[in-house]
Amino acid sequence: MSQVHDEVMAANTGYAADFGDKANLPMPPGRHFAILTCMDARLDPAKYAGLSEGDAHVIRNAGGRASDDAIRSLVISYKLLGTREWFVIHHTDCGMETFTDDIMRGLLASSLKTASVDASGWHDSGKGPGSTEGNYIDWLTIPNQEKSVLEDVLRIRNHPLVPEEIPVYGYIYDVKSGKLVEVVNATEAGKAK
Ligand SMILES: [Zn+2]
Repeated sequence: MSQVHDEVMAANTGYAADFGDKANLPMPPGRHFAILTCMDARLDPAKYAGLSEGDAHVIRNAGGRASDDAIRSLVISYKLLGTREWFVIHHTDCGMETFTDDIMRGLLASSLKTASVDASGWHDSGKGPGSTEGNYIDWLTIPNQEKSVLEDVLRIRNHPLVPEEIPVYGYIYDVKSGKLVEVVNATEAGKAK
């Protein structure tokens, strides 16, 4: 096993040793809200939003985008588990700003190895084989954070499976300051009706 694997197991042993009354937490989030945010390693929603175990749902993907699967989770979040307000939180310096569908598809068609990036953009080692399967995926890249937050709040707000009374708030997390900055027109568009 890898060093990272061993570190994770050791950390878990410590966590479980001090588990305390978390064994008695109910499944539904105690504070009745959900956050959709990016998987970026610099973001820790539990810390930036003050969450403890049992408080809230956190749905994460590349970009924090309102993909079909993110919406699937949000619908389960309120329909079965009672959340009543949602946050869409994208962030500054997101990796999803650094490429387009065409770039990603080209990199994957060239090889499946990890690509490299420099000032002139993404480069592939070319040590194939690659795959054209990437052509069939919408990578949901982000040319502009304010726009992507607004777009995702609107998609959620207007989704036929999302009830009108759930407010959807739009924010951008600043990786330089740790602050959540509201995208005012997104929160406005996400207002409960
Ligand atoms: Zn990101």
